[in-house]
Amino acid sequence: MSEKKIPVLDLKPQYQAIKAEIQDAIARVLDSGQFIMGPDVKLFEQEVATYLGVKHAIGVNSGTDALIIGLRALGIGEGDEVITTPFSFFATAESISNVGAIPVFVDVEADSFNINPKAIKEKITPRTKAILPVHLYGNPAAMGQIMDIAAEHGLKVVEDCAQSFGAKYYGTCSNCNGACQESTRTGISNKHTGTIGDVGAYSFFPSKNLGAYGDGGLVVTNNDQVAEVARMLRVHGAKKKYHNEVLGYNSRLDTLQAAILRVKLPHIDAWNDGRRRVAKLYNELLANVDGIVIPELADGHVFHQYTIRILEGKRDAVQQYLAEQGISTMIYYPVPQDRLPVYKGQYEANPVSDLLAGEVLSLPIWSEMESQLIAHIVNTLKKIMGFPIN
Ligand SMILES: *Cc1c(COP(=O)(O)O)cnc(C)c1O
Repeated sequence: MSEKKIPVLDLKPQYQAIKAEIQDAIARVLDSGQFIMGPDVKLFEQEVATYLGVKHAIGVNSGTDALIIGLRALGIGEGDEVITTPFSFFATAESISNVGAIPVFVDVEADSFNINPKAIKEKITPRTKAILPVHLYGNPAAMGQIMDIAAEHGLKVVEDCAQSFGAKYYGTCSNCNGACQESTRTGISNKHTGTIGDVGAYSFFPSKNLGAYGDGGLVVTNNDQVAEVARMLRVHGAKKKYHNEVLGYNSRLDTLQAAILRVKLPHIDAWNDGRRRVAKLYNELLANVDGIVIPELADGHVFHQYTIRILEGKRDAVQQYLAEQGISTMIYYPVPQDRLPVYKGQYEANPVSDLLAGEVLSLPIWSEMESQLIAHIVNTLKKIMGFPIN
């Protein structure tokens, strides 16, 4: 096909479609001269809270800061244990460690790539304070079961939504035909991820589904008290200027980024629909290829990544072949968090997470991706897998 290298993510078509509006928004902020906590921050917070269906939205500097501030706003700190997934970007466990708490890893399910709710209970101790699920690749975690366990044991729930902006939890589970009883928990169904637990933490890193043109993040909560503390923590622990009450951070969402996000927010559902269209086509074209496991098309999944598994130890060779053919792919994540040098020797194995680290391969995906390009990638993949191509 084309001589050009195919990236894993192409943000240019999106920018071209909204270029004039973005430039107007940037010019408006520059003309106003208000770069810190200008009016666009407040307006974006109101608009995003309405979109997500949550009472409070607090703009911060990054998704990592959103996790840290969210945890601290819930009173989680020194010596507390927080149950989370080993299979995520390090910001998840790093945030737990950075507030002085201890990440306790519960292995994932291979089908969803998310924390296995059935394995959570055995890791609860008297020191456990919270569960921190990640909606990995944009696939909602099993919030029904997680919220039940949290209620039973008096735990807080912090949702890492860095990869799941716009995703909705429907309480359906496609793996087991309802055997897990996820679907009986209708009270929380049809809600955006991040609005089910006590706190949701979002990232606006440029490559995320709703991306700024720089760093940015968001804390969301329905709890007035938690929102008040989060607002205070993002500006040096002060409710009133020069009356700092606790040790906080300098972690505001830039006015420029807020103005950009206000332009992008009304498009997010269409962009996520585009990602689902791409994932669905990939799944159709890759069904029944020996040695490849395709991801579940779960309801509400927004496909921040389209991630397949390549079995029989062939993943690295396949990735190299695709690269030689000009097709970029990524491995999220080659090393599970519990295996990182920073935690060396501290954790026991999580076999599913370890297995996935050796099998996962994320293929190119963006909303505007053309069907022809998807077919080309699939055919190249089938070729290396020894699958006949018609
Ligand atoms: C991107 C990401 C983060 C961190 O977000 P930043 O805005 O880069 O700080 C946290 N958790 C997960 C799962 C992520 O993908």
